[in-house]
Amino acid sequence: MDMIPGKRILIVEDSKLQARITADILSRHGYSTDFADTAEGTLKKISSPEGPDLILMDIDLGEGMNGASLAKHLQQIKDVPVVFLTAMSTPEVLEQVRKVARYGYVLKGAPEHVLVSTVEMALKLHEIISQARMYRRIFEESLTEVYIFHLKTLKFLAVNRGARENLGYTMEELREMTPLDLKPELDFPKFKALLDPLLKGEQEKVVFETVHRRKDGTTYPVEVHLQQFEHMGEKVGTAVVIDLTVRRRMEEELVKSRQEYLELAEDAPIGILKCDRRGNITYVNQKVPEILGSPSIEETKKINLLTFHQMIKFGLSQRLEDCLQNNRSDTYEVHYESKWGKKVWLRVHVKPLANKNEVTGAQMIIDDITQKKRLEEENRRREERLRLMLKGIPSPAWLISRERRILAQNKAAAELFGTKEGDYCWQGIHGGEYLPKEYREAIQKTGVPLPGTKCYFCRGDEALAANEPLNSEVEFAEGVWDTWWVPQGEDVYVHYAVDVTRYKKMEEELYRLSITDPLTGVYNRRYFIQTLEQEIERVRRSGQPLSVIMADLDHFKNINDRFGHAVGDQVLKAMAASFKERLRKTDCLARWGGEEFVILLPDTTAEGGALLAEDLRRRLSQMEIPGVGHVTASFGVTGYLPGDTVDTIIQRVDDMMYQAKGKGRNCVCTCTAPPPS
Ligand code: GH3
Ligand code: MG
Ligand code: MG
Repeated sequence: MDMIPGKRILIVEDSKLQARITADILSRHGYSTDFADTAEGTLKKISSPEGPDLILMDIDLGEGMNGASLAKHLQQIKDVPVVFLTAMSTPEVLEQVRKVARYGYVLKGAPEHVLVSTVEMALKLHEIISQARMYRRIFEESLTEVYIFHLKTLKFLAVNRGARENLGYTMEELREMTPLDLKPELDFPKFKALLDPLLKGEQEKVVFETVHRRKDGTTYPVEVHLQQFEHMGEKVGTAVVIDLTVRRRMEEELVKSRQEYLELAEDAPIGILKCDRRGNITYVNQKVPEILGSPSIEETKKINLLTFHQMIKFGLSQRLEDCLQNNRSDTYEVHYESKWGKKVWLRVHVKPLANKNEVTGAQMIIDDITQKKRLEEENRRREERLRLMLKGIPSPAWLISRERRILAQNKAAAELFGTKEGDYCWQGIHGGEYLPKEYREAIQKTGVPLPGTKCYFCRGDEALAANEPLNSEVEFAEGVWDTWWVPQGEDVYVHYAVDVTRYKKMEEELYRLSITDPLTGVYNRRYFIQTLEQEIERVRRSGQPLSVIMADLDHFKNINDRFGHAVGDQVLKAMAASFKERLRKTDCLARWGGEEFVILLPDTTAEGGALLAEDLRRRLSQMEIPGVGHVTASFGVTGYLPGDTVDTIIQRVDDMMYQAKGKGRNCVCTCTAPPPS
C-alpha cells in the first residue's frame, strides 16, 4: 500500500486507548498524528498554520458532544476532509455521516488496511476536489470567453462568466442553446464543415473569425479557437472566443494615424521622398517638385535615385547607396542642379527604412537652403569688405561681434593695443583692469566671462540697439581718444579710436589765450565780465556777499613819457604781479584796459573789499620798481546791491575810483550804501 508520508492526521477521540491504537496504525504507515478530545481543542488545532491535513473523528464523543455536528462546524472554518470512526453502522449513524461530508467512515476495530486505505482515499479525493475547484475558478474568472458544448447535440454544457456577461444570457438559457444560436453568419452545414477536421482527427484545432450576437441583438467580431476532447466517454467541443472589438478599434486607429501622418508629410514645408532598396521612388510629397522645379509629382517619381545621372554627378547616389548598405543615416549639404535645370542648395537627410534589420529602402528629407547659403555668402563678403576698410583706417580699428569678440583688426590696433583676433575686446583694447569688479572676479574665478561682460568704456550695445554710430571721448593711458562705435548690421560693429591728445592740448591753450591778457598774464576784460555775470547769478540765489575793486595807476602817462612805453609795460606787469601775490585763488584779477585793473571778490562784503584794496594800495606804493621807483594807484570799491547787473556794478566801482582820483589819488573810496536815487 502507498504511503503518503508527512501528512498530519488529527484524531478526535474521547477514549485515550482507542486514540492510541489508531495513532499507532497511522504512524506505521508514515502519517504524523495529533490528538484532541474536546471541541475547543479541535478548533484550536485546525486553526493553527500547522493544522491537520485530515481529521479522524469519533462520532460519539461522550458527554453529549456529537462528532457529526462538530465536523459540520469545522468545515465552515477550514476545508479539511473528515473521516468518521464509529462503533456501529446503523442507518441513523450513516445518515448523520452523509449529511456532513463525502469522505467516508471506518468502523472501530476494522482491519488495519481498511483504516489506512480509507484515510488515503479521503486525502486523494480531497486533493482532486480542490484541483477541480481551482480549474473551475480559472475557467469561470477568465475574461476570455470559454464555451464547452456537446459535439453531437451541439448544446452548451458550460459557458464561463466572461462569455455570459458579454452575451447577456444566463447559464440556464444557454443550456438550451447551441453555438449556432450565437453565430448569425453560420448555419448548420457551414458549422459542421468547420468541425469536420476536428472530428476526423485531421486537425487538433480550428481557428476562424465570425461575429457573435448578444441577447440584445447587437453583434461583435470574434476569433474562435475550436478544439475537442473526451469527457466521460463523450466527445465535447471547447471554444475559446476572443472579442476582436478592441483589436479592430486599434487597427482602425492605426489606419487613421497613418492617414494623418501622410497628410502631415503631404503639407510639410520640406521635401519628403521614400525609395525602395533599388532607388525607385515610392513616395514624394508636394514640396519636392517645387524644390526641384519639376512640373509634377508623377514626373519627379520617374527618377531613379541610384541611377539618375544628375544624382550620380553630384554624389547623391553614392551617399544613398552607402546609407542603404550600412543601415546608417546621413546629413549633408550639396549644391545641386535638377533634371529641370533648377540650381539649388539642398540640405539632405537620408534615413534607411528597415524591417527587422533588413533595409527595405530609405526616406530622404530635402530642404531648399539656397536663401540661407546666399545670406552666408553675403555675410562672408561683407566681412571681407569690412576687413579691407579696417586696413584703410590709420587709427586703431576693430570689427567686433555683439558678444565682444574681435572678428578682425588693423595693424595699428595690434601694434598700439596688442589685441588679438578671436579675443574678447576688453582683453586687449582697454585691458581687463577696466572691467567692473563683478565681471573681473567671475573671469578670475572660472576663467570664463559672464555673458554680457563689457568694460567701462564700451557702448557697443547702445550703438547696435540704436543702429547708428555713437561717439565718446575717452581718457585713457594719459591721452584722450575720440572713440567710435559704428554698427554694421545687427550683430557686428566697427570700433575705432583716434588719438586726439595733441588737439586737446591745443584747444586748451587756445582757450587759455582767449581769456587772458597777453601782457600781464591775468584774465582779460571779456572773461571778467563773464565771471561777474555768473557770480551775480550765484549771489542772487544764495544771498552771499560779493565785492569788486577797480584800480587805476596814478599819472601813468607821465611814466610812459619819462621812461618809454616798454618801461610802462614793465610797470603794468609789476602791478599785476603784486596784486596776484596778495589775492586768493578764488578771486578773479583782470585787466580792464590800459592801466586799469579789476578784481572780483566772491563771498566778500564791500567793507572786506575796502580792507583788501587798502592793503593792495599800500603794498603797491611801497614797491620799488627798478628804474622807475615808486608808483601809486587810486582804488574804487563796491559791494553787490540788490538788482545789480554787470554794468551797474562797473559803473559804481568806476565812480568810486574817480572819487579816489578826485580826493588826490593813492587812496581807496568805497561805496557801502546804495547811492541816492
Ligand atoms: P590819472 O592819474 O588821472 O589816471 O592820469 P593818467 O596819466 O594815468 O591817465 P591817462 O588816462 O591820461 O593816461 C593813461 C595812459 O596809459 C595813456 C596811455 O598811453 C597809457 N597806456 C595805456 N595802455 C598802455 C599799455 O599797454 N602800455 C603802456 N606802456 N602804456 C599804456
Ligand atoms: Mg586811466
Ligand atoms: Mg591813470
